[in-house]
Amino acid sequence: MPFDPIQSLADARHEFGEHGGVNMSIEQSTTFTVMHATTMPDIFGGVVGPDDERGGCYLYGRHFNPTVYTLGRYLAALEGTEAAYCTASGMSAIAGAVIQLCKPGDEIISARTIYGGTHALFENFLPDRLGVKVHFVDAADADQVRDAMTEKTRLVYAETVANPTLDVADIPALAEVAHAGGAQLIIDNTFSPLIVSPAQLGADIVIHSMTKFIGGCSDIIAGAICASKDFITSLMDPHTGALMLLGPTMHPAVAFDLALRMPHLGLRVAEHSRRAMLFATRLKELGLPVVYPGLSDHPGHERLKSMMNEGFGFGGLFGLDAGTRENAFALLDTLQNKYKFGYDAVSLGYFETLMSCSGASTSSELSEEEQRAAGILPGYIRFSIGYTGDVERRWDEFKSALKDVGILTGTTA
Ligand SMILES: *Cc1c(COP(=O)(O)O)cnc(C)c1O
Repeated sequence: MPFDPIQSLADARHEFGEHGGVNMSIEQSTTFTVMHATTMPDIFGGVVGPDDERGGCYLYGRHFNPTVYTLGRYLAALEGTEAAYCTASGMSAIAGAVIQLCKPGDEIISARTIYGGTHALFENFLPDRLGVKVHFVDAADADQVRDAMTEKTRLVYAETVANPTLDVADIPALAEVAHAGGAQLIIDNTFSPLIVSPAQLGADIVIHSMTKFIGGCSDIIAGAICASKDFITSLMDPHTGALMLLGPTMHPAVAFDLALRMPHLGLRVAEHSRRAMLFATRLKELGLPVVYPGLSDHPGHERLKSMMNEGFGFGGLFGLDAGTRENAFALLDTLQNKYKFGYDAVSLGYFETLMSCSGASTSSELSEEEQRAAGILPGYIRFSIGYTGDVERRWDEFKSALKDVGILTGTTA
């Protein structure tokens, strides 16, 4: 049987609230009692932990909290990993995982096109503060990764569908190359929850910014690390664990909120994808330079098809090159202010449409030269298509805005 993330999630969700409620209770305590004093040294020594086999012992809220732990189990179920841990942000999940694995002198091979914050972490912070060198390559091409591997390479890093260009990583090939060189593969799956299951394709660690599709309401900043039980345990070690010692802890009320959004994640992702496909197809028909991995002319189309799970489409994001930055700004203003089509805002995965000129916003951490190398054109707009409103009316709004700003001329419309 192929891995079925929806069934896996359903199987993981069987909590009862304190009074028999159909939702779990929120365990809002920062510290936990032990019934026998001898248990305390056992918890510090890792002899007993929060999972049932080891006694269900909790220590302190920055270590494990029962509500946050339950959300972690759902994330592990989503990705089909042994364990997961939820953090206060996507960036802290990335930083925690990377810092746990790398020491000064180690090297990372990373996809060139990645989230701007991750790029800044890799380009500036890791080399300057931790002495970890990062080589940037094209993650669609595993040969480039193989060529960059040295005995110092500790990990290979890529996004399943890259921000903002929507390049598709070759996860099975990256896993093979990384493992052959004794390195681990970390995949950021933020753009494609349920659509792709990287751990089933060979990734060792899967990262989510739950701020995006998983949260789905643009109201919560959160992240997750999905990995082996050993790795998650190492992150939480009271003496050496990056998460335990750096402390990007998720609040239990936040974990509760996010847990309630997991059961309908699949419905939401499928509708985001359906609408993105419709818009991308029609923009293509109008002859406009649209980028969407669901279109057969996208360089990552076949690769994504070979990796994806059935039923969730090709994702809720597409890109459109408006030609110039001025055109991009005019289109964004018109869409937001005249047609209320969506918001000129960064981020993604919201139920409303979010759109931004990548080079002037989320990827502005990259220099102009780096942007060009990463394929980010000055007029490129990234759309995260929402699912509110009638889709045909939304399309009319979009087409009208394109005409208003002169991207679409009379004859093509
Ligand atoms: C937003 C994002 C992040 C960072 O997540 P935060 O929750 O904002 O810290 C990391 N990776 C990708 C691909 C993202 O889109």
